[in-house]
Amino acid sequence: MTNRLAPPGLYIHVPFCARVCPYCDFAVQTGGPRRRGDFIRLLLREIGLWSRLLRGEGSAPDRSAGQGSHQAVPSWRSEQPFDTIYLGGGTPSSLSPEVLEEILAALHGSLPIAPEVDVTLEANPEDVNTGNLRSWQRLGITTLSLGIQSFDPDALSFLGRSHTPEKAGAALRGALESSFETVSLDLIFALPGQSPMRWEADLRRAIEYGPDHISCYELTVHEGTRFARLKERGELVELAEDDKAELFLLTHRLMAENGYHAYEVSSFARGPNHRSRHNRKYWDHTAYLGFGPSAHSFDGVSRRWWNERRLPAWEAGLQRVPGASSGLGTGASGRFGQSPIAGSEILAPADLVLESLALGLRTTEGVDLERLRDLYGIDVEGENGALVASLRRDDLLVDTSPASLLVPTLRGLAVADALARSFEIPPATAS
Ligand code: SF4
Repeated sequence: MTNRLAPPGLYIHVPFCARVCPYCDFAVQTGGPRRRGDFIRLLLREIGLWSRLLRGEGSAPDRSAGQGSHQAVPSWRSEQPFDTIYLGGGTPSSLSPEVLEEILAALHGSLPIAPEVDVTLEANPEDVNTGNLRSWQRLGITTLSLGIQSFDPDALSFLGRSHTPEKAGAALRGALESSFETVSLDLIFALPGQSPMRWEADLRRAIEYGPDHISCYELTVHEGTRFARLKERGELVELAEDDKAELFLLTHRLMAENGYHAYEVSSFARGPNHRSRHNRKYWDHTAYLGFGPSAHSFDGVSRRWWNERRLPAWEAGLQRVPGASSGLGTGASGRFGQSPIAGSEILAPADLVLESLALGLRTTEGVDLERLRDLYGIDVEGENGALVASLRRDDLLVDTSPASLLVPTLRGLAVADALARSFEIPPATAS
């Protein structure tokens, strides 16, 4: 739900990878030193432009979806300093420590950053070595998130990853022996033909290392990826839904047995202090500001905007922003194309309520309908009393007190998306 008072977060999208994995639908590409150098120069420019905007100098144009009009993105509403920085992508760990230092120095030097900021770096095992681990700590990285995906050699090969299980293990050990506040790793399950036994062995291997946080993502075949083309040709057959559900339940059981508490459908932490502070901002409508191609931003109230997805379009938008002294898009013509921002939308109260349900029911904190009513003037509870009662009877929602608090059971978490879609959202009665 809209979270006007919580400190906002910063996201940096680094769009480069050594190669593009066949399942990945992020805005990524390969790129040599020159391409990367151009990107960094423009990223620093984008940070500088927002710095001026936050200080009240200049305005930010965007293309309002479908209207083709030129409107200003409202000035940033949060007066709080940013308390998370998330370096994601892509593979930000493939940037040299000197370049990462330059980016972090630009953020610290030009934006309000809280002293206790949590800085996350996504890293691929190939980039983890003693020198980099030391540099990342010196730079103030607090959370290291390793893209391990699997310890099973066949799974790694199917996923097109270039690291071996041994390299993944060595990277994880090295990270855990360093003094990051949180070491996290990502795993992917529900691969074609994957048996519960095989997944359990993979997951147990991850648990044995004792990381602070594990994210377990079900394989999704996204349109436009190589896996989607293989699927179309019948060369990739996804697991049946029942088999996926079995692996999901197995994951949650195994994690709970080993002291990893689920706080979101895919996220498990050994303690509350290891939960992702940054991701939570996406789930509860806290403000966040994104830099780099495809990065999204939200003003913490109702406005969302997003950058050009393709690197050349994002670069062109920034290259055309004139003058170091102006804000985003305050250039000569005042027309489109003077900004890396591709579009924006204002979310109506009903949209915000629907999103709050969809995101909140994926978390073990759940959603408080009373709070939604106070914030948006929409009485979800009144309209859906019978539905909520039946979801509780069917063991999809926990019996909570107060009853307005909707908390999914494990069975509910397994079908969280469908659960959210079953709610009727009545019109707002007050703003
Ligand atoms: S390394 Fe990560 S971001 Fe890069 S292509 Fe593979 S899955 Fe996508």
